[in-house]
Amino acid sequence: MQVLPDNVQDSNRCIRDLVALSALPAIWVGENDPQRIAEGLADALFSALRPSMVYTGLKDRSSGRFAFEAVRAHRLSPHLKSQEIGNALRQSFGSNPMAEPVLISNPIGSGMLRMLVIPIGHDGMWGMVAAGFSPSAFPSELERLLLGVGANQAAVVLENARLYHEARAELLARQRAEEERRTVLSQLETVLRQMPAGVVIAEAPSGRLILGNEQADQIWRHPFMAADDTAGYRQYRGFHPDGTPYLPEEWPLARSISTGEVVRGEEIDFIRGDGAPGTLVASAAPIRDAEGKIIMGVVTFYDITDRKKAEAALKQKTIEAEEASRLKSRFVSQVSHDLRTPLNAIMGYNHLLSAEIYGPLAEDQKQTLARMQNNAEHLLKLINNVLDLSKIESGKESIDLVPIDLVQLIEEILAEMTPLSNQKSLSIYCRARKGPIVVESDATKVKQILTNLVSNAIKFTDQGSITVEARDQNEKGGVEIRIEDTGIGIKKNELARIFESFYQGEKAIDRSSEGSGLGLAIVKDLVHLLQGNIAVQSEYGQGSTFTLFLPYRLNKIQ
Ligand code: ADP
Repeated sequence: MQVLPDNVQDSNRCIRDLVALSALPAIWVGENDPQRIAEGLADALFSALRPSMVYTGLKDRSSGRFAFEAVRAHRLSPHLKSQEIGNALRQSFGSNPMAEPVLISNPIGSGMLRMLVIPIGHDGMWGMVAAGFSPSAFPSELERLLLGVGANQAAVVLENARLYHEARAELLARQRAEEERRTVLSQLETVLRQMPAGVVIAEAPSGRLILGNEQADQIWRHPFMAADDTAGYRQYRGFHPDGTPYLPEEWPLARSISTGEVVRGEEIDFIRGDGAPGTLVASAAPIRDAEGKIIMGVVTFYDITDRKKAEAALKQKTIEAEEASRLKSRFVSQVSHDLRTPLNAIMGYNHLLSAEIYGPLAEDQKQTLARMQNNAEHLLKLINNVLDLSKIESGKESIDLVPIDLVQLIEEILAEMTPLSNQKSLSIYCRARKGPIVVESDATKVKQILTNLVSNAIKFTDQGSITVEARDQNEKGGVEIRIEDTGIGIKKNELARIFESFYQGEKAIDRSSEGSGLGLAIVKDLVHLLQGNIAVQSEYGQGSTFTLFLPYRLNKIQ
């Protein structure tokens, strides 16, 4: 291959070409923009080779399209786009550019051109470069070499640009990740600072305290006291429930760091920086690295001093209330008992008088005695009710469990009530499946409950009927008894209060002198005692339904 020139003119040209060649890399040092590389390469080759035209086309790496093109020529029509020239060249050469010059029709003008086309990069992966000479000027070996070197250098520059882009993208990604990490850290720090709990973090295994949040300072009422090791925890003063002080290694944080213990909700009495005592509840846990080694420990704690004080006050109040209730019950039962004895005597004498044992009585005297008897009975009932209630409320009421056939019991109660219901011409029904419906409960109390409910139903119904219905509720493990009447009903605003002691509905007060407002309070307490429940539904003016539930069997009685 003849490369070196053999005459002076050629050697001058050769020197000029070599100078141009040596200038090539300088054009692209640090150049990353592919379009500018295409332009620079076209300029450099055009001035170095002085051909009729130069074309450079670079591909976009992702699409493989010739996206960056440049054309240089002496008289280039401004209408001709480099893209069209590139397309015409590629049509002439197909996808395989050749190193041998080929005569083709001039893509930028008329006539023919001797065209030298060289791929850039392996298999033209980066694109191509083409130089056209007049058909008479056959490009020398040096010129071909120069074109090839230009293409090679462009490939190197493009590869550099690619690497640069990759490195830059990687750098950006790393910067972004670092930024994200910093944001997360600062968010974590904010959370830590603003947490309503005190937080202290220590290094393992030394126990050196490395961080404490503001809440921690507030709870302890002194600025964060750093400690170089667990022994330094001595400066914090805490006490076990038995009053012995916490040794440094006994603090939850120290235990988490040294043994990996997870401490949950440990109550610690402590002395604050200003000497005030308090109670805190602390939870601590170790923080481990990927291998499971403890690298840190964290403790969170809340000041529960106020809660503790409130609890203590409440406990004291409860004790006082229980004591007051005990005294009240004792007083009530004492007074009731003292009232009952003379009342029984009054009733006895009344009976003797009414029976005319002490001589005959006029009609109006008899009526007065009958009224006295009535009132005395009512008073006795009231006293008995008060006694019952105070006995239940004092918790002294015992439960005597026996099997009870509810159907039989209801029929018995209804039979006893018939004279009352007959007085008002009320129909009275019992509805239940055939056969016994049995619960194990206290027969006297169940009877008292049902009697109260049925007598209320009769008392508050002037016409219509009373229906008592019992049915098993196997899924709930008991029996439901409904006492339904077509009576006066209960106003919505009264519904919530009728189970209170001494509460009587407006209508009830007008209509009867018998009521005391204790019946339903006793019912509620008894039902509760027998582990059942009671509810009421009522439509004012239409009637009421009391629904009682009794379990088949009582749970263990305390
Ligand atoms: P009382 O001695 O007045 O009957 P209770 O404690 O038994 O006291 O009932 C409280 C109030 O509940 C009654 O005064 C009455 O207003 C209302 N009440 C109870 N049962 C019925 C009912 N079946 N129909 C309408 N009102 C009722």
